Amino acid sequence: MSKTKKTTKAASNLDRRDFCQKMLAASVLTAGGIGLPFGTAQAQSRTIGNATITSFSDGTMSIPVNMLFDADANPEIKPLLDQSGMASGTANRPLNITLVDQGDRRILFDAGSGPNFLPGLGELPSELDAAGIELDSITDVVFTHAHPDHIWGVIDDFDEIAMTEARFYMPRQEWDYWDSDDALADMPAGREAFAVGAKTRFDALRDQIELIDYNQEIIPGIEVVDSRGHTPGHAAFTIHTGATPVMVVGDALTHESISFQHPDVINNSDMDGDMAIASRLRLLDRLVADQMMLIGYHLPAPGFGRVERQGQRYRYIQG
Ligand SMILES: [Zn+2]
Repeated sequence: MSKTKKTTKAASNLDRRDFCQKMLAASVLTAGGIGLPFGTAQAQSRTIGNATITSFSDGTMSIPVNMLFDADANPEIKPLLDQSGMASGTANRPLNITLVDQGDRRILFDAGSGPNFLPGLGELPSELDAAGIELDSITDVVFTHAHPDHIWGVIDDFDEIAMTEARFYMPRQEWDYWDSDDALADMPAGREAFAVGAKTRFDALRDQIELIDYNQEIIPGIEVVDSRGHTPGHAAFTIHTGATPVMVVGDALTHESISFQHPDVINNSDMDGDMAIASRLRLLDRLVADQMMLIGYHLPAPGFGRVERQGQRYRYIQG
């Protein structure tokens, strides 16, 4: 990046920051003059050892339930869909983005949707700003996979990388898939933008992405966990910063009851349903065996929870 470009970029960031702060001030006034201290804008934190782990909201995604589950083929899940507020046929799912803050290192897991995917999304930058976290203070961005709601937010509305000082990491299989011609050819009608949008972000990241392998420690205390199936190179990550290990599960576990009580039911958003089921069962086993906390990207906000074994099945305990 040339010096001139960097200066322009810094200026535009300042302009936007100023704009965002004005917008925030306006919304605070509308709310009756009550300030928004850290933690009230849905962001919630846990301190684990030497890290503060915070879940930030990128917004809520509204999609047809049948994009996620086939209740006709799996009648046993029908009451669970209804209990989770999906009886109307619409699923409102949050986007929970994890930030691990170790003082000298701020590691973000996924980058959110940005402004161009679906309405109601792309809130991550303003949520971080409200918490006093500048995008240029993010040192590392780790991607679980390359779906729009996880990667599109890595570039801003000027098509430039939003986290200007960060290093970026993606599972090698995930990168290779979306970077190949197969991705566009594989997309069902209506989802072509998934492939095109991933490629646009890859082009921005190409010179600086670090391709990572499963079972490796990519950053001290951060291990890559094979959870392929949702996408060809999906990864979960375990975080070891204190006595309680935490797993960022991405989209391997997406529904608070179905993913746990019926992990063997195909999820229509998984690109390889059988592989995703095998991954889901493997993660559930490990979460129980290692008594881990988990953070789910689409589990009810803020997405923190634990898992218990319940006979042949599992139970999600939110909190
Ligand atoms: Zn997702």
